[in-house]
Order: sequence, then C-alpha cells, then structure tokens
Amino acid sequence: MQNKEIFRKTRFFVLDMDGTFYLGDRLIDGAADFVDTLKASGKDYCFFSNNSSNNVESCLQKLERAGFKTTPDRIVISSHVAADYLNTRHPGQTVFLLGNEKLTADFIAAGIPLTLENPDVVVLGFDTTLTYEKIRAAAQYIQQGAFFIATHPDLNCPVEGGFIPDTGSMIELFAASTGKRPLVLGKPTAFTVDYLTKKLGCERDELAFVGDRLETDIAIGADHHIPCVLVLSGITTNEMYAASPIRADIVTPKLADLRKYL
Ligand SMILES: [Mg+2]
Repeated sequence: MQNKEIFRKTRFFVLDMDGTFYLGDRLIDGAADFVDTLKASGKDYCFFSNNSSNNVESCLQKLERAGFKTTPDRIVISSHVAADYLNTRHPGQTVFLLGNEKLTADFIAAGIPLTLENPDVVVLGFDTTLTYEKIRAAAQYIQQGAFFIATHPDLNCPVEGGFIPDTGSMIELFAASTGKRPLVLGKPTAFTVDYLTKKLGCERDELAFVGDRLETDIAIGADHHIPCVLVLSGITTNEMYAASPIRADIVTPKLADLRKYL
C-alpha cells in the first residue's frame, strides 16, 4: 500500500535509534537517504531514545562513528523528559538519582538538586554503575515515602550478541522489595508526547513515531492516536508482531522503505 495520506499532517518524524537507524556500529541500509528524502519533502525529524545511560554527546558520537552527522537539538532522550518533569512538577525538590555519570551531569546541568540523603524524589535511570549500596539506599527512601520516578520502562537493552538488564528490570526489583512502583516516563507515555510537542513547537498529530520495539516505539503512537511505523530491522520479527495486540499503522522491513510514503 502506498498511502501518502497517513503522513499528510506530519511535521516531525520521531526516530528510534538502535535497531531503527543503526545496528551495532553501522547505519541501517538507506537510513541517511531517508533523512534526505524527508528534508526534501519539507518535513523534519528528531531522534528519541529511552536509553538514559546515554547523553546527547554520546548519541552524536555514536551516529558520527556510523557515518551520520546531525545536530544536538535533534537528539532527545528519556532523561530530558525526566528533568523537565522534575523542574515543572517538583521544582526545587531534592533527588536521589540512580544513574551513571552522563545522566548525573545532565541532571546537574538541568538545575536539579541532587542529594544522597533523605530525598524528596528517587529517580531510577539506566544506571550502568548501579551498586548494592545504591539499591539499598533507594529502596529505603522509597519505603519512607519518597516520590518514585523511572526514566523509561524497557526491560532489556540490546547489545552486541544479546541484551543486558535495563531500567524496567530494576523497576521489578524495587517493586518486589518495596511494593511500590514508579511513575514511568519515556516512551510510550504521554509525558514523552507532551515533552516532544513542547520542545518541537507542534501539535500531537504533527508527530509520527518510527521504531523497532512494540511496547515503546509503537505503543506510544497507538496509545495517543499518532501515526506509528514498525521497522523490522531491530528486535521485532514478523512472528512477534503477529502475536502482539499492539498495532502499527505501517510495518516495513526498514526505515528507507518509508521514502515512498513521503
Ligand atoms: Mg530500538
């Protein structure tokens, strides 16, 4: 089906990165051509990654190593949604952060007061430097009533040759221990849709999401009546899609195939 109507209102394609734009250290065939076609058709794009162990700089470097140059304003991460949420809904409140040095630096740059003791809020990011001491302290603060936020829900993060436990798995650890679950941001939540419309200066129906993961990249579109495209270049297979209740507007082997819809 060649239906240009579906993207008639779209101003910004929100592209997932891993499994959608690149795989490992290589751009997926035709990904850069897609961006050229997009720009020629008068539309624009940004990247959105749930992976809060990265920052803008590391995402730019990864893209550049794969052979694609873009600008810092086109990289959006779940940590940006979290920082904006804290600054608007919990301004000035102290935060105990489970995050690596990149996420910590981003939160400090966003003016969020971090603390190691008696925080108002516990934020769970993709902490690649997680220790038992941090888990113990966070669980204690959550039990004592600190507001609990997670940057994104992904259970696993794809890496070369497999996957590693991501923030969603740590959510289950804290839920099992404390009986409490966090407010989750990132894809597929409305917090991310609202953050993107605010940042890009557009309406919800002027976005379109493209990604390889059903529960995040596709659910965010399906849940908010925003066009969404599943690419089969990452973790989702045809069989997985057939077995899932989550529906994409378009299912296609890779990003470059979307050129015919522009
Ligand atoms: Mg992906």
